[in-house]
Amino acid sequence: MTAAAGANPAREQIIRLGHALVAEQRRDYDDCAHAGGLAGFLAAWRADADAALGHEAVRVTLVALAEYAALPADGRRERLDAAIVRLRALVRSLPATLAAPPPRPARRARASQPAAAAPFTLATPLDAVESVGRQNALAFRRLGVHTVHDLLYHLPHRYDDFSSQLPIARLTPGAVATVVAEVRELRSFTMRAGGGGTEVLLADDSGVLKAVFFRQPWLARQLRPGMRLVVSGRVELAFGARQMTGPDWQQADAELLHAGRIVPVHPLTRGLVERSARSVIRQVVERAAPLVVDHLPEATRQRAGLVPLGEALCHVHFPPDQAALERARRRLGFDEFFLIQLGVLRRKAEWQQASGYAIADAPAVHRAFLQRLPFAPTRAQARTIEEIGADMARPVPMARLLQGDVGSGKTAVAAAAALRAIAGGFQVALMAPTEILAEQHYRGLKGLLSGVPVRQPPPDDGVASAERLAEIRALLGLAFEGDLGPAGVRVALLTGGLGARARRRVLAALAQGDIDLLIGTHALISESVAYRQLGLVIVDEQHRFGVEQRQRLKDKGFNPHLLVMTATPIPRTLTLTLHGDLDTSILDELPPGRQEIRTRWIRSADRERAYRHIRREIAAGRQVFVICPLVEESEKIDLPSAEEMHQRLSQAVFPELRVTLIHGKMAPRDKDAVMVAFRNHAFDILVATAVIEVGIDIPNASTIMIEGADRFGLAQLHQFRGRVGRGQHASFCILVSDRDNEVTTRRLQAMEQTRDGFRLAEIDLELRGPGEFFGTRQSGTPDLKVAQLADTRLLLTAQQEARRIIEADPTLAQPEHAALLARIEAFWSEGVQSG
Ligand code: ADP
Ligand code: MG
Repeated sequence: MTAAAGANPAREQIIRLGHALVAEQRRDYDDCAHAGGLAGFLAAWRADADAALGHEAVRVTLVALAEYAALPADGRRERLDAAIVRLRALVRSLPATLAAPPPRPARRARASQPAAAAPFTLATPLDAVESVGRQNALAFRRLGVHTVHDLLYHLPHRYDDFSSQLPIARLTPGAVATVVAEVRELRSFTMRAGGGGTEVLLADDSGVLKAVFFRQPWLARQLRPGMRLVVSGRVELAFGARQMTGPDWQQADAELLHAGRIVPVHPLTRGLVERSARSVIRQVVERAAPLVVDHLPEATRQRAGLVPLGEALCHVHFPPDQAALERARRRLGFDEFFLIQLGVLRRKAEWQQASGYAIADAPAVHRAFLQRLPFAPTRAQARTIEEIGADMARPVPMARLLQGDVGSGKTAVAAAAALRAIAGGFQVALMAPTEILAEQHYRGLKGLLSGVPVRQPPPDDGVASAERLAEIRALLGLAFEGDLGPAGVRVALLTGGLGARARRRVLAALAQGDIDLLIGTHALISESVAYRQLGLVIVDEQHRFGVEQRQRLKDKGFNPHLLVMTATPIPRTLTLTLHGDLDTSILDELPPGRQEIRTRWIRSADRERAYRHIRREIAAGRQVFVICPLVEESEKIDLPSAEEMHQRLSQAVFPELRVTLIHGKMAPRDKDAVMVAFRNHAFDILVATAVIEVGIDIPNASTIMIEGADRFGLAQLHQFRGRVGRGQHASFCILVSDRDNEVTTRRLQAMEQTRDGFRLAEIDLELRGPGEFFGTRQSGTPDLKVAQLADTRLLLTAQQEARRIIEADPTLAQPEHAALLARIEAFWSEGVQSG
């Protein structure tokens, strides 16, 4: 047994794999580095990479790259790069040589053997697992379940607790129970209406029970008198006798799977039958669970009091009892929170790992700003400005989220931050989600900031500088009073509406440093825009400033401070999961003297009264929004679409008024045109779909009427409502809904009773759950399958553990975190894929 030391085969195999991936990376992910594509290479490589396959990181890599050819370019890059990082970490953790070569299974040594079946690993595709069968594999594929690993995470969506077993005589009608009994008689029947079924008479020592199965005539052939069955279902009383209709059943001598236990019910699809799916899952889980490598460091698992991953996966599919199920769900729920937390914390660490600009405060400039501000900042604004200032003073790129309800005055805070950066000699980019909002900011901020002196006027050196000054003035449209010329803040607007020449001039001025604050849409960080010294990026009303955008800034050599502003009130637990990579400031106070917005929930039968109110408002010179939800073809009878509503209002209800329409299918340019026309009071009524949600400011609008109000999340309704009450006019919000179930009633009453956006968000989360909360998925964060958002304790535990790990190992480069790193990457790419 004294074998000579030899090269570590796993390590060699992994290195070979790594080389192949790097070759692919060099070729810019064109899937041509290998004949047969990456898939071809992987198949060949896998055939003699037994040793390597023992490593979770390798298996995860194979899973991640399984569909490589089908991925879009971004997806390929993301996954391949991640795989290379992961494999490098793994290789570093492996010894180069082994004291003794690992014993080879004898059968593999014999070359004459027919090619051995591919090893069963977590990366094995289901159609290569014999017990699954082609048909089932195909059906699972429809559910997005391709590999053994996928199947492990294809979790039951509910459980039937059939664990309480009773003698037949003790069955009580109405209860759900399980009996073990013998088949006495079988009878198949046909029904006059067509179809048929099987009736089975069962008996145990205590009594008899009839089981009726409709539409399953084949059961009569499958069952025989004398067979012992386990039967689970709800007990009924029919003609004085005990009966179960369509119970779950199985033979009593087999392992309990379909009855007599806590039975998992897995999501199914066409071609996948409950019983056979359950059997397949049982077999695969049993084989695969022991192969699962727990990605949690042991110490973390212990501290958080969690069961091992393999056990959790076993028990979540086939729980032996309720307590085990609870433990399994807690473990898997922890993982979801934990992986999300780690992901966002890593993102933050990455953002902040390059050194940023320490920008000192400029008290004189700030004072000048306060003097020009037409109001005194609220306490919340002052506090927030300080929080942001403290971030900017550090040589680390800020990553801060400013949350503030509609109208809480986020713009003034942004302006103060921008001024600080500009006074420090930096440029600022302010991004809005639409051109019209960009333009609104431009007009507001130019008025406010161009009169604030941020620099010494250049010494007058004659004609040249006078010409240059004239040029800048012309370019920036600095013509109004109070304009300080080059001493004040130079604000410019960059939108698609700009002509090619004007655009070139703005870009040139920006590159020269003649523009301090550039306002526009996402185009502000596009390829062609070059800054001289970008120190701060402000993103307004944007739910997600994605990883890609941040990366783009880094790629251009900038490490600016980042301030993201949102008016979507988000409950705290959700903030931690969605925006855990951002520090948070909250404007929790509205400026004084705000118009009250009277909110009323009405039935569609009361529309006439609402219309009379609208007529009065318009006669008094006001304007009105009417919002319609998106409706499916099939619902059109109950709910008018925006188009239909527009037609009805303009022709039948208000033929004498000017009614216009805006909807999501219109080109952005056309939408903006309608909004501008409405803002200029060319129309009295604007009928709209949800597109008007974000921050447009039309102070003359005093009423918003929302049709099908139950269709919207409370956060969204609250946003809509924020479109009115922005001027000096008393304002109204009319919610129309005929639904009167309990949840709708509580939600719409909450709208009537509170104006606090955060409170509303919490109520909505409580009543409808996180999926509904945003209306659509826009977070880019992986889905929670197991974890409950309301489970704040588990979330906080996960967060604490994630912090501990990131603090010790910010990039998860340490070998003991290799499995974790692999898991995070797979987890996040799953989320992005399905998102
Ligand atoms: P949002 O947070 O929705 O972006 P804005 O910044 O647009 O809010 O501010 C809404 C309105 O409130 C604007 O007309 C703004 O001038 C005004 N405002 C902001 N701060 C104050 C304040 N401290 N006192 C009075 N009015 C304010
Ligand atoms: Mg705003």
